[in-house]
Amino acid sequence: MVDCTVLEVEGQYGDCLHLGEIFYRIIERWVDFFCRISFDTLKAEFPSTIKDALLTEYYRKAEEVLQLEYPITKPPHQALIDRLNLQLDQGLPSTQWEWGRIASQFRDPKNYDFAAGAYSPIDTLLEATMNDPTGKKDPNFRTILNAPVARLEPQPTPDQLSSVTHVVVRDGDTERKIACKKVVLCAGSIESAAILLRSADGDISNFGGVEGEFGRITDHHILSVAMPFIYRNMDDRDLIGGMKLQTDIQFNIVKDGKVVDNTVALANISLDAVSFLPRNDVSDSLLPMLIIAYIVPSALVPTNKVELNPDNEPQIHVSWADDDIFEEKQKVLKDFAVDIMNKIVDVYDIRFAKITSAGYQPLLHKITVDDIHLSQAGAGVVAHELGTIPMPGAGGSGGMVDTDLHMKYGWRNVSVCDLSVFPYSAAANPSLTLAALALRLADRLYPDPKYSPLTVYNLTGDSILINMTNSKHTKKFGPELPITIHKGGSATWQIETREAMYIYHCKCAEEFLVQMVYPGTNAMVVNLPPKAEICMCNSTPLSEFRTTFS
Ligand SMILES: Cc1cc2nc3c(=O)[nH]c(=O)nc-3n(C[C@H](O)[C@H](O)[C@H](O)COP(=O)(O)OP(=O)(O)OC[C@H]3O[C@@H](n4cnc5c(N)ncnc54)[C@H](O)[C@@H]3O)c2cc1C
Repeated sequence: MVDCTVLEVEGQYGDCLHLGEIFYRIIERWVDFFCRISFDTLKAEFPSTIKDALLTEYYRKAEEVLQLEYPITKPPHQALIDRLNLQLDQGLPSTQWEWGRIASQFRDPKNYDFAAGAYSPIDTLLEATMNDPTGKKDPNFRTILNAPVARLEPQPTPDQLSSVTHVVVRDGDTERKIACKKVVLCAGSIESAAILLRSADGDISNFGGVEGEFGRITDHHILSVAMPFIYRNMDDRDLIGGMKLQTDIQFNIVKDGKVVDNTVALANISLDAVSFLPRNDVSDSLLPMLIIAYIVPSALVPTNKVELNPDNEPQIHVSWADDDIFEEKQKVLKDFAVDIMNKIVDVYDIRFAKITSAGYQPLLHKITVDDIHLSQAGAGVVAHELGTIPMPGAGGSGGMVDTDLHMKYGWRNVSVCDLSVFPYSAAANPSLTLAALALRLADRLYPDPKYSPLTVYNLTGDSILINMTNSKHTKKFGPELPITIHKGGSATWQIETREAMYIYHCKCAEEFLVQMVYPGTNAMVVNLPPKAEICMCNSTPLSEFRTTFS
């Protein structure tokens, strides 16, 4: 679907959804695995402000927004995870296998057999535009279908910053202009780059200062091993269900006594689970399947390009990054796959069925490196291509957008938020990082809407004292000290996230009740907390303990 989404935000975005959530959902497709980029990679390849923001705040928020779930861990699952993490072969990378997290409902007993429920943003977008609980459509949010963005206007001038005033969209043979105050480009690595090119009359140097930074579209290698298997006791198949596990692994390739590569790759296991992972040349089979897939990271490739063809549509030139030790890496990954497979054989007493041109071979109870084939997916196979409009690298210099994702050149009111801003093709499925960056950008563009009102009603028969953890500490946003709500009364706080509300009978009470409260909701207090054994309230005016707010 090609669409143009317009947000006109004045102050708070209403009660419907966190603004960042909208931003994130605008830019996202549906995905399978969600994982963080490793600490080592963020440190080595991303600006430190981005690394810190992701690790301290925004990964957690993105995981909350996406409602990432873990499946149920039964003893046989733990047994396999423990066995995989027990690395006795010193030559192989150490591991921290854990469940791969996905944004969908798990159905016991077949974890990861989740055809119902894979995450798509479209429902949420439609909900935001059409399903307004008050019966009116939100006046600040529009999705315009079938409106591909051609370019932004006015055209940039080298070494000068101007403001974009219009988004030009195509409507059949006609062009229409949408007036705008701020623009977030999120048409994906190729189309966002093409929109910039079309806006600059095909010549990116019209932005000034971006030569060498623009258009280095890059994908990482995805390598995989796939093989069907049988359980010796097929009842185990139901007991174990599907498993998806992930671990970071660090290469430690040594040449002439020196470490020549210690980059971090990602290993995924999909055991008898529905998966988008490449299956090599193994055709669909009624047998359960093991797929081991690796993502090997890559720096942006300077010779790769995005250009416009004569019809003003993007055309790309892509090659893999030079890697002198790619063969050595493949050897490590193959040995690692053999180790994984033999551990699974041990723990679940399975037998792999090697497939050759002659059909199924006798079942294997011990895998050797000659039994497996490491195959390589083509570039772009799971839409991880990125880096065309990058942020700065680890040193903080370079980039076409700054660390707030705002364009550094050409325009002052344009931000970019899709995979094109990644400065490095890390060994991770990229959507979680993109979601986290989108939430951060939303907070940068509209700092206040993340706080939503929480109104607390006192439905008990007496006054109560409320202490809210972590409410916003400004007068504008309401009380931060304990306040009294008289019976039948209410008070409103602005909160950003789930908080604990402590309810006391009065300031002298030592015991209290705790209630969890959420932004954008009403909370009722119906039970009176215990009274103080000795109450001194009458000797101290209550007003001393109360913050008034207007
Ligand atoms: C089969 C498959 C499985 C995947 N599995 C995973 C996974 O498990 N985990 C993970 O992290 N990632 C996964 N991905 C990758 C993930 O979907 C992408 O990395 C992600 O969607 C990229 O986001 P983006 O915002 O950069 O681009 P996109 O998601 O491509 O968003 C760009 C949007 O802009 C629209 N658009 C394009 N041009 C224009 C224009 N001119 N005007 C207006 N709108 C325009 C497009 O229609 C699209 O909606 C998977 C991808 C595929 C294909």
